[in-house]
Amino acid sequence: MKERMLIGDLGAHTSETVSISGWVDVRRDQGKMIFFDFRDRSGIVQGVVLPGSPAMETAKELRNEYVVRVEGVVNKRPERNVQADRQNGDIELEIKAIEIMNPSEPMPFDISGDTSGIDESVRAEYRYLDLRSKRMQKNMRVRSEFVRRCREHLFAKHFIEIETPLLTESTPEGSRDFVVPSRINPGKFYALPQSPQQYKQLLMTAGFEQYFQIARAVRDEDLRADRGFEHTQLDLEMSFVTMEDVMAAVEDMVTSVVEAMGHTIKRKPFPRISYKDAMEKYGADKFDLRTEEEKVSGVLAYAWVVNFPFFEKTDAGKWTFTHNPFSMPIPEHLDWLMKGERIGDILTTQYDLVCNGFESGGGSIRAHKPEILEAVYKVMGFSSEELEERVGHMLKAFRHGTPPHGGIALGVERTIMNLTGETYLREVQAFPMTRGGKTAVMNAPKALTDKQLAELGLKIDKK
Ligand code: ASP
Repeated sequence: MKERMLIGDLGAHTSETVSISGWVDVRRDQGKMIFFDFRDRSGIVQGVVLPGSPAMETAKELRNEYVVRVEGVVNKRPERNVQADRQNGDIELEIKAIEIMNPSEPMPFDISGDTSGIDESVRAEYRYLDLRSKRMQKNMRVRSEFVRRCREHLFAKHFIEIETPLLTESTPEGSRDFVVPSRINPGKFYALPQSPQQYKQLLMTAGFEQYFQIARAVRDEDLRADRGFEHTQLDLEMSFVTMEDVMAAVEDMVTSVVEAMGHTIKRKPFPRISYKDAMEKYGADKFDLRTEEEKVSGVLAYAWVVNFPFFEKTDAGKWTFTHNPFSMPIPEHLDWLMKGERIGDILTTQYDLVCNGFESGGGSIRAHKPEILEAVYKVMGFSSEELEERVGHMLKAFRHGTPPHGGIALGVERTIMNLTGETYLREVQAFPMTRGGKTAVMNAPKALTDKQLAELGLKIDKK
């Protein structure tokens, strides 16, 4: 057999005998002749088995989604059969030999079109088939391209990519933690990171100055259309910067990446609005600035929201942070924080990036001096001991030459939803969970064996 050629390359090899490998996308048995569409990662081509072809016997056996190797001659189609709107619409593979590399059972649902209307649990069970559909292939490729372009942009700006631990201590992002029991420390638990917040700040202490990471963040939150237990964030942090610097760097990256991907941005520079004005004008801190027409044409309407209150009252009447306890107040309000005055009026340096009705990212300038972080925790009613227990390690780092710094995290899925026009997070993740929190394909969560429980020193309270 000849060496494999990609289907997307066949057009340049007319009159040649070639070999392709891929899936049977469609089969049309016309009795004397059988037509197929074959598919690989590079595209689609029509093949035909003519009467009397030595491949006829095998061809009769082929069904949709069989994996095959096909040898044939690339013929130019006669003018009247050319399908100009289709990839390889001007050629046809005259099949000489077929090898079945693996047959397939019939598909549990139709993967030839948009699968979004198929029952969620069936799609999840056969996610690898769902992912074969054209729309899902495109969504995953858009995601890959977005991340690749962001990486390239940040490398060109001299950022360094660093991974931070998955097994770690609880970070206060305002959600519940997912915890992992420690076998060698019975009764003790790690938390999966709700974000790399503290580690990225420590990387600033470590002198890297410009860090980024494509980070997984795990939060035990109520599942919604645009929110799952796991998501990916493009997380970055910079030293010796102001709000303006970080916002400009992010705006530059987002603009150049999405424009290179063929998208139009409604307004540049991105408009800015205060939290107060946003609430008055739109009744929310995320809003959609597009006209109906722009919605149809896929325009991206970015905006920054700034001047959020630092603190809000809990139901119990205590102060808590609105966004991020590690933030710095705006410079004009630092004094109030340090004196514990006018707590409800203190604004934080938080900046949220909004796009087409979603919060697409958020970040802030951080407290980099121990007394500032201490003041934040004091407002929230923490005692000195509790403070030490919660963030003692950060205070210690801040006493060892931590530079001023700030950063942001952009939600990768929410961005891809905007780029693809999808309304559900699960359409832009390869293996998302169902709304009931069950994993795709694999069977989690599930019970541990008695042996595992004993090893971890855990007893399950069966209510
Ligand atoms: N850690 C924040 C978050 O995950 C982002 C940031 O402030 O950089 O939302």
